[in-house]
Amino acid sequence: MSWQKELSNKGYRVSEPRRLVMGLLAESAQPMTPLEIYQELSQSGQNLGMASVYRALELLAELGLVCVVYNPDGSSGYVAGSVGHHHHILCKKCHRTITFAGSEDLSDLIRRVEAETKFRVSDHLLQLYGICPDCQKILADILEEN
Ligand SMILES: [Zn+2]
Ligand SMILES: [Zn+2]
Repeated sequence: MSWQKELSNKGYRVSEPRRLVMGLLAESAQPMTPLEIYQELSQSGQNLGMASVYRALELLAELGLVCVVYNPDGSSGYVAGSVGHHHHILCKKCHRTITFAGSEDLSDLIRRVEAETKFRVSDHLLQLYGICPDCQKILADILEEN
């Protein structure tokens, strides 16, 4: 389902700020901060205030249409989301982020953590880091030259 459809199904308008923010994130391979989104939009001649960027992101995140991911330095950014249980893998070199289906089985881990902590586990946050194929190639080329 398209994000436009998802929005209207949930009773929200495809407003200009939502369309601009979502369009930008859908095109971006790397996570973007609210400030980067704001700057990118101003550079392309769109007059969208910082508060509108935040409001659009807040709603899109609530609906799962955008997700927060974490860079290796701990800073966070937004990427376009995906329906269903999924996670992200982020390249430590270029920060390119790819979505993958969340088919992992954490039941052993969750049982152990519940037993150890007496918590009732309700949810999880999982993100993988690695080196993407392009950056692997660049690194291999550098090694070859030396
Ligand atoms: Zn990379
Ligand atoms: Zn998962």
